[in-house]
Amino acid sequence: MSSELDDNHKAEAAVSLGDLTRFLGAVPAPFVVYGPDEKIIVCNAAYQREYHPFEDRVVPGVSHTELQWLKVEQGLDSDAIGREEAFVQAEQDRHKHGPNIEEWEDDAGRFMRLFRERLPDGHVIGMRFDITDLRLAERELQDKNERLKSTQHKLEAVAFIDDLTQLSNRRGAIRALETLVARAEEEKLHIGVVLYDLNGFKQINDGFGHAAGDALLREIGARLQNAFDSDAIVARMGGDEFLVTLASREDNFPFQQLVDQSMEKLSQPFVFMDFTLQLGVNAGIAIESCANTSAESRIAKADMALHDAKKRRGNISRQFDEKLRQKIEFETRLRQEILSGVLATQTVLHFQPIVDAKDPTSVPAAEVLVRWDHPEFGLLAPGVFFPVVEALRMAHTLDEIVLDLALGQITKWQSMGQHVPKLSVNISPQRLLDDGLSSSLDQRIIPKDSVSFEILETVFSDRADNTLQWNLDRLHDSGIELHIDDYGTSHSSISSLLLIRPKRIKIDRQFCARVAQSKEARDIVRLTVALAKSLGISVTAEGVEDFETAERLAGLGCDMLQGYLFGKPCPATAFPTLLHGLSGEKIA
Ligand code: C2E
Ligand code: MG
Ligand code: MG
Repeated sequence: MSSELDDNHKAEAAVSLGDLTRFLGAVPAPFVVYGPDEKIIVCNAAYQREYHPFEDRVVPGVSHTELQWLKVEQGLDSDAIGREEAFVQAEQDRHKHGPNIEEWEDDAGRFMRLFRERLPDGHVIGMRFDITDLRLAERELQDKNERLKSTQHKLEAVAFIDDLTQLSNRRGAIRALETLVARAEEEKLHIGVVLYDLNGFKQINDGFGHAAGDALLREIGARLQNAFDSDAIVARMGGDEFLVTLASREDNFPFQQLVDQSMEKLSQPFVFMDFTLQLGVNAGIAIESCANTSAESRIAKADMALHDAKKRRGNISRQFDEKLRQKIEFETRLRQEILSGVLATQTVLHFQPIVDAKDPTSVPAAEVLVRWDHPEFGLLAPGVFFPVVEALRMAHTLDEIVLDLALGQITKWQSMGQHVPKLSVNISPQRLLDDGLSSSLDQRIIPKDSVSFEILETVFSDRADNTLQWNLDRLHDSGIELHIDDYGTSHSSISSLLLIRPKRIKIDRQFCARVAQSKEARDIVRLTVALAKSLGISVTAEGVEDFETAERLAGLGCDMLQGYLFGKPCPATAFPTLLHGLSGEKIA
């Protein structure tokens, strides 16, 4: 009884082939089971539709081979056309030995994926899915990726390439240098970073237009690329500044020689339209093998060397070294101290007598020369700290301190009953170009019989400036004597006579000091004196160190003499003794 019940249950549980076909009919993907004899045991309607319009022939019992021939004969598969036998054979092979998963694109452009499962007893179950949506989504994703990549490349080009020269830009140069530095230790590389700066580029750009400027920058880039081998990184850092990075395993690699040659090439004339243009160039070089120095720091060192090279005349290159590092450290220290205001208390004045050329016992004037009485470095000469003051654009502050100290000193000497020569105070070019000069002078009582001002003629070399002319007019209005200092050192010497309308010129030391030895120097002084006299200007000769020079200069018509022969600049406390000594004995 119980086994009868079990059998009934089994009968109920077992699904008939008809039901199975019906159930599978609801599955949209084609499904088929082939027996070990390669005949269909069961398949669904979706499978049958593959053979449309011959669905009726796809029924259990029909063999895989028959169906392939059906495809061939009815032209259901374009692959079979003209190769019927081979097609049927290939399909048979795939059925028996083909991979478990296959994918292809059908004639209608749809993507299919076939799962073929072979059971150990020889049954083959096949199921096929339409994966067109999946493929299209994948394709779209791929396209998007490609587009993203190409945009990224374009962005990189903009970010790392200089548009004008097509060289690397600053960012590109830093990136390339970083890569090189990363290799330095392992490959034992000496890396040289060279920064170039063009002189006169602005004038060409302003004078010949931007097209000339652009062409010139491109040409400079091309010349630099030609000057070095293809491994060198050549970049435009911005404006008229270029960078080249060189690397070598050789201990004695001729970095300097290559840089010299490249500078030679850069300073060769350049033809733009019908004009031949020429530029000056400076270079700063930083050579290091140490892998620990970052790209930025190497560039900074080359920049410091460049900065130093630019201070000198001509096409100069400079290598960063320990001495330069110390100099920069020293200047940085001075800069910080100046900014913290120490000049107000640490500035001291020295005074140098200016004597009558015909009677050197008479000292009608004295030049006021500034010194920084530094607590650690001692007495610093203006040549040491003035460039730092000027770079901070604080020359006018220092000039005011000097003027106030000089005015105070006059009062002090007068109160001591001391003879006070007319004090000649230097005015820096920066102050002459400063809007505030006139009001700063107005705030002080300046006795015009006791003070004169020295102005460097170089103030006119840079540009014509309204403020400068206005300041000069105000100085004239004040009635204070103006003297031209270092006369003869710039190309604007003669025009400065008209523009400054000085009471006196001081012929520069380089001419005066040589009059005893050089006829040319004598001629220059003679002609300068003649020119000055014809304009009613008196003449002082600077840098007189010996009797013969003093006599010659007096003979050439100079009115006053200044130099170590009569006294080196000395502090206020020692100055009365110096004057006393001068008046006590005849020197010339
Ligand atoms: P400068 O106005 O032409 O001053 C003359 C310079 O020549 C001084 O150098 C002086 O010490 C030096 N000198 C004088 N006689 C002789 C000589 O016989 N032989 C030699 N070899 N040198 C001599 P110093 O004091 O170092 O000043 C250098 C420059 O610094 C000055 O040249 C001036 O341009 C500037 N300077 C000095 N004091 C001041 C100041 O208070 N304000 C401004 N703006 N500039 C100043
Ligand atoms: Mg002077
Ligand atoms: Mg001078």
